[in-house]
Amino acid sequence: SAKHAGRNQIKDFNVELKYALLEKIELVKDLRNAIANNEFHLVFQPIVNRFGKVVKFEALIRWSHPTKGLIPPDQFIGYAEESGQIIMIGEWVILEAKMALEKLKGLYGEEIQVSVNVSPLQLSNSQSDSTKLLYELLTGVFSESTPNKNGLIVEITENVFMSSEEGAQQQLLNFRKHGIQVALDDFGTGYSSLAYIMNYQMDYLKIDKTFVSRLDGPESSVSLCEGMIAMAHSLGMTVVAEGVETSEQAALLCEYGCDYLQGYYYSKPKRLDEILGREVDQNVTNT
Ligand code: C2E
Ligand code: MG
Ligand code: MG
Ligand code: MG
Repeated sequence: SAKHAGRNQIKDFNVELKYALLEKIELVKDLRNAIANNEFHLVFQPIVNRFGKVVKFEALIRWSHPTKGLIPPDQFIGYAEESGQIIMIGEWVILEAKMALEKLKGLYGEEIQVSVNVSPLQLSNSQSDSTKLLYELLTGVFSESTPNKNGLIVEITENVFMSSEEGAQQQLLNFRKHGIQVALDDFGTGYSSLAYIMNYQMDYLKIDKTFVSRLDGPESSVSLCEGMIAMAHSLGMTVVAEGVETSEQAALLCEYGCDYLQGYYYSKPKRLDEILGREVDQNVTNT
């Protein structure tokens, strides 16, 4: 009967909830040892200019869980934020990205930049020690070999503006003072407001991949992308399109003046060794 089916649905729902909660508790527990056990690594995805030249890389975290295998960030960053572990993980990411930046400079030149994703919690006042450390990491106080202060770019999402975390927005203004570039990630998916964009004068606007993927599809978002690019430019921002998968998308974006492009069409995110090794191999076959 319908009544019976309904009861079963509730039971299934409870079982699923319970399972999800147990899984979460387990992952949060496992996260505690992940740094010490070397279970994290970064992958790097190139960002190219309109001529296809690699100008930046985005650093993306990966977790090789000892029994569950590779866990993508969307499946654990949220838990790490809830548990506060994102602070430690975020520091690890910046240190790793900084080391990678130095190696990438050897291959791509001093101008190459690496962008890192930063959670609103990492910017909050309630974590003042960690915020101070974040500056020091970003500005290079701890490192002898960082002449280029702008080598690292901080990627934030619109959540920073929604965050009740005391001072997160103030930190964004401080970044600017310290010459640290900021990119607004996933633009168009959150509670976008022109006011934020105008008040915080960020350096880059990253058009979310949902808009890019619809560019050559049936529900065309051509005029939307065109509008976002024009708006960003009028505010002095540089535009990066993410999730570019086809040459058609790339061509349209370039036609509307998009500055930089990132996506599987150019390259999937790769481990640093692979990026450094590949280039060497290419040089060998070219000669
Ligand atoms: P994001 O910062 O917007 O990163 C872009 C995501 O799009 C990455 O997923 C990337 O692998 C994926 N992507 C790139 N090109 C394409 C494409 O052409 N097609 C499609 N379908 N996808 C593409 P990933 O690596 O799974 O990361 C997901 C999200 O997790 C990131 O989104 C970011 O919000 C978060 N994240 C990743 N690493 C970190 C980190 O170190 N710290 C923090 N706080 N968050 C991170
Ligand atoms: Mg990002
Ligand atoms: Mg994004
Ligand atoms: Mg995202």
